[in-house]
Amino acid sequence: MHCLLLSFPAQGHISPMLQFSKLLKYQGVKVTLVTTFFFAKNLQKLPPSITLETISDGFDNGGIGEAKNFKFYLDHFWQVGPQNLEKLIEKLGTTNCPIDCVIYDSFYPWALDVAKRFGIVGVAFLTQNIGIHSIYYHAYMGKLRVPLDVKENISLPMLPQLQYRDMPSFFHTYEKDPTFLHLCLDQFSNMDKADWILCNSFYELHQEVADWTMNIWPNFRTIGPSIPSMFLDKRIKYDEDYGAPQFKSEEYCMEWLNDKPKGSVVYVSFGSLASLNEEQIEEVACGLKDCENYFLWVVIPSQETKLPKYFEKKSQKGLVVTWCSQLKVLAHEAIGCFVTHCGWNSTLEAISLGVPIVAMPQWSDQTTNAKFIVDVWKIGIRAPIDEKQIVRKDKLKDCILEIMEGEKGKEIKNNATQWKSLAVRAFDEEGSSQKNIMEFVTSLFHLQAIDK
Ligand code: UDP
Repeated sequence: MHCLLLSFPAQGHISPMLQFSKLLKYQGVKVTLVTTFFFAKNLQKLPPSITLETISDGFDNGGIGEAKNFKFYLDHFWQVGPQNLEKLIEKLGTTNCPIDCVIYDSFYPWALDVAKRFGIVGVAFLTQNIGIHSIYYHAYMGKLRVPLDVKENISLPMLPQLQYRDMPSFFHTYEKDPTFLHLCLDQFSNMDKADWILCNSFYELHQEVADWTMNIWPNFRTIGPSIPSMFLDKRIKYDEDYGAPQFKSEEYCMEWLNDKPKGSVVYVSFGSLASLNEEQIEEVACGLKDCENYFLWVVIPSQETKLPKYFEKKSQKGLVVTWCSQLKVLAHEAIGCFVTHCGWNSTLEAISLGVPIVAMPQWSDQTTNAKFIVDVWKIGIRAPIDEKQIVRKDKLKDCILEIMEGEKGKEIKNNATQWKSLAVRAFDEEGSSQKNIMEFVTSLFHLQAIDK
């Protein structure tokens, strides 16, 4: 049994798919992970057990950055992608282990059509919160009016009531540029034809919306949290990082953490993509400087020049790095809270490691994840923004103080600890996600047996 896993070229998309590849391997499935040529070129390393292949998106020298805008990038990629994937499946077909199944990032609905042309199994892999996929599904089905009215309260089945600000940001920017929203809605254009729909989350986290989704698609399953086993049930020895970082990790930050007291450090990261403006970065810098606590702040290379000139990257109180092993950091006992942009992977990681959150969502699904973090799972607070959409230093400082020392912080920490044990349980050998993974893998081997 040989699965090809086709990932979208972004850190938050390749990491869960790579992790899922490892689980399939562990079950005896051969896997080939595929991403775009340019994105693969910039990955720092890859676990030796995983075979990587690439397809061209038409921008081999600069990826998305080489295209004049995102629409141009997608239009071109969508034109050349299907043929390039076909060629790869044909090439691998000449080996002694041809492809039996394509597991594709749900942003690539055309990959399912390619799989079907070859008569092989096609599996959609959803990399976001199930609630978000449900919102997009309703918009795709025409059950949500787009553009939204700013004053509208949005009620959708099995989801909390959402205000405009809680909706994925692509609804907010639709009139200026509909490209991103179209990408998210088009996931559903052929999903009915998928043999399986797998989502990087766990059932207990979204019970009601997961049940609702399984009513629409009986072949929908949760298989997450897709994070290395050593941070969950430790079943797979040495599986302690995803293994394909875009940036080089500054590992000395772990030593820096080692001599900090338990729960004393604020960890701050806005993920691999978010671009904060200089004013916001200065407010974060001043807020952290004014806080009583230690801080470890990840400022990715493209954002570094935005730091205020007077701000010290290494001081008694704080350390700024361009990248770290986030899972190791979150698992470190010195960490007291996580100021995050609420990317889905960072959110799942915080849940799995029981770290309370100060939510500072920036764009895409992050605004909706923040709503779930605060009002559904109750594991964090959302830093308030002003009329310029900026979180001011005092507000950030207040939120950190509330989590680290306030009454509400205690409640939030308790909730975070409970969610952590549910995440670990979902992933262990008897857990909901593990059962779903086994059901999926068994179905693949069953198909193979019938073919023979
Ligand atoms: N990450 C990391 N080191 C860092 C910052 C982020 O390893 O210094 C990882 C993090 O653990 C997560 C991913 O990068 O797995 C970011 O994904 P997420 O979905 O949270 O946000 P995105 O980057 O897609 O906005």
